[in-house]
Amino acid sequence: MLLSFIFTWPIVLYSLAILLVGWILGRYFVNKRLWAIIKKDADGLHYSKTAGENGNVEDILKQLLQKRSTEVKRLKQLETYREQYTGNVAHELRTPIFAIQGYIESIIDDDEMDQETTRHFLKNARKNIFRLEQIITDLDTIHKFESKTLKLKKSSFDLFELFQDVIDTLEYYAKENETIMIIEGTSPGQHKVTADRERILQVLVNLGMNSVKYGKRGGQTKFIANELVASISIEVTDNGMGISKSDLTRIFERFYRADTSRSRSEGGSGLGLAICKHIIDAHNKKIYVFSKINQGSVFSFQLDKSQ
Ligand code: ADP
Repeated sequence: MLLSFIFTWPIVLYSLAILLVGWILGRYFVNKRLWAIIKKDADGLHYSKTAGENGNVEDILKQLLQKRSTEVKRLKQLETYREQYTGNVAHELRTPIFAIQGYIESIIDDDEMDQETTRHFLKNARKNIFRLEQIITDLDTIHKFESKTLKLKKSSFDLFELFQDVIDTLEYYAKENETIMIIEGTSPGQHKVTADRERILQVLVNLGMNSVKYGKRGGQTKFIANELVASISIEVTDNGMGISKSDLTRIFERFYRADTSRSRSEGGSGLGLAICKHIIDAHNKKIYVFSKINQGSVFSFQLDKSQ
């Protein structure tokens, strides 16, 4: 009994030792193989090379799974966004196209139509063609900003003159709505800023146009300059209908319109503020809005002073 024990325990020990070495080697080679496979995919993860080679493959696999699930989420969001975007574009284009179709068919179908009605219908059709053109130009501008193919043409210019150009551009529209347009805080030659003049004009015309559209009849729009140390703060204010808190966070999104009958009846496409934001972002500045329902809105941003 004693003898057989003395002869068999080394065999048991050897077997255990072989099993242990086999297990360690097996684990090492399996990890090495796994590591070789996932290493190619592990770019950007916070791992150390030795962690992978020393068998911490489990942690890295967890990180990889996390990375994959974040990517899948992002792709799903992009897909939803793409679907919404296509739907919005189709919707915005459909409205003027149907209107044009309607006016033209009415003229064709009615042989007895008098000249005055025909002219009226043709004028309405033309208005909708302008609208189509405007939507396409806006979409093209946004696309150019997003694909970074649009380069700013910066120059130094006088702020008062720019404000005056904006007011001249909006003159007819403001008169129709009896809106008074005022310049405050600057005078000819007082403030020079460096920016893309055409683009900033576009921002101010969009903001000024909105202040008339969503302002009250006989309301006031102000273009205000405030001098800061290295920049000039520009505000466009109105005393119109204002924007609700829940809409404020979304009005710079493409196609977003606060769901008021006014924004629909005025025929806005919801692209104007998205363009303003793109232009101000491209100048490395931010655009802000403050508003109170039935009291009015203030849109503001800064421009660099010319040296
Ligand atoms: P739209 O073409 O509809 O005017 P915008 O992008 O210029 O598109 O504006 C988005 C929405 O923000 C508008 O539909 C309107 O509801 C709201 N909005 C913009 N400016 C004003 C303002 N000055 N006063 C009240 N609401 C405004």
